Amino acid sequence: MYNVIIVRYGEIAVKGKNRPVFEKKLISNIKNSLRAIGRDISVYRKHGRLYIGIGEYDYEDIIREAKKVFGVFSLSPAIMIEKDYDLLKEKALELLTDKIDFEDASTFKVESKRTDKSFNLKSPEISRDMGGYLLSNLDGKIGVDVNNPDVIMHVEVREDSCLCYSDKIDAFGGMPLGTNGKAMVLLSGGIDSPVAAWMVAKRGVEIEAIHYHSYPFTNERSLEKVKELARTLSKYCGPIKFHSVNILPIQKQINENCPEDELTIIARRFMMKIAQKVAKMENCNALVTGESIGQVASQTINGLEVTDNAVDIPVFRPLIAFDKIDIIDISKKIETYETSIIPEEDCCTVFLPKHPVTRPRVDKIIKSESVLDVERLVDEAVESMEVEIISL
Ligand code: ATP
Ligand code: MG
Repeated sequence: MYNVIIVRYGEIAVKGKNRPVFEKKLISNIKNSLRAIGRDISVYRKHGRLYIGIGEYDYEDIIREAKKVFGVFSLSPAIMIEKDYDLLKEKALELLTDKIDFEDASTFKVESKRTDKSFNLKSPEISRDMGGYLLSNLDGKIGVDVNNPDVIMHVEVREDSCLCYSDKIDAFGGMPLGTNGKAMVLLSGGIDSPVAAWMVAKRGVEIEAIHYHSYPFTNERSLEKVKELARTLSKYCGPIKFHSVNILPIQKQINENCPEDELTIIARRFMMKIAQKVAKMENCNALVTGESIGQVASQTINGLEVTDNAVDIPVFRPLIAFDKIDIIDISKKIETYETSIIPEEDCCTVFLPKHPVTRPRVDKIIKSESVLDVERLVDEAVESMEVEIISL
């Protein structure tokens, strides 16, 4: 029945010179997302929006994939025909019959759009005429309800074609990946950082990931878990360059030479410094973390200040003011939650101070840290780093 899918995107958000770039990128990202279904699926711009040609494929498969593409706000499977109003009526009837038979629809209304001003009926007249036609052909199976209908039958009369559709499937919105540079995500096995990564990617930012482990204190399984999270993220973000670094040698040095209550905060500064170094190597212009104010001792405002101070590139913390419960909601929606809650050792828990400082001072922490050869430790960590591309 359906032959095209209407793709709505953030028309209002992007204006001027950026718009063609945005559209081109969105088209190519949608095409990429559909490659596994069929390489010859067409995606094109027409009427100031995008269409996907369904061809021989299952429209539900296409929607499932296209829904994950950032920049897509909503999708509607539709019937597009040549400009023939009588045929449009038949197609709308077919669509509405389907809704009655398979979705138990009992009320409807028609909403019309006429972009061809030379067409002899105005929009309200099309609605009335189409509504009357549908009602008279579905004798008693369905009624009209203009306030709260089960089905809204959208019909459009355009210069070169006619169109009808009823479903509107919401997507994530955002901006097409690859239109806003690249960032390095500090990806742990927790709930927060995958959500933070997803949120930044949703704004069109390509992401790479860096993960710290303390092998052999943390095991192979805990590393696999984080790779699995990266794999889930790659559903939205495409293949992800995944860097893994053993931070145990640094943790041992901190443990031996720095005050016990500062172990975590100093280790976090090392994580930031290493991430910054790798980010610069990879042309990433920012770091991303899953921190939010007050969640743990190292995420007090003072803690964040001390962490921030370790680097000179921007650090994006999209979850900074989120409650855990809201972060969990997103992690369920993007399907990272089930993996995140698998209990595994994390490098941060290997040397956990009994009473971590909650109000660390930058100068004091830098002083404690200065007994270490920070630069060398960072360089060595980066040299021993392993890199792999994670994709579905
Ligand atoms: P998450 O749920 O993301 O692990 P969290 O609330 O447990 O966050 P922390 O463990 O303090 O908080 O970590 C704060 C942030 O530091 C994380 O969101 C992540 O960005 C980064 N981080 C923590 N541990 C690691 C790790 N082992 N590898 C890479 N990044 C990490
Ligand atoms: Mg954590």
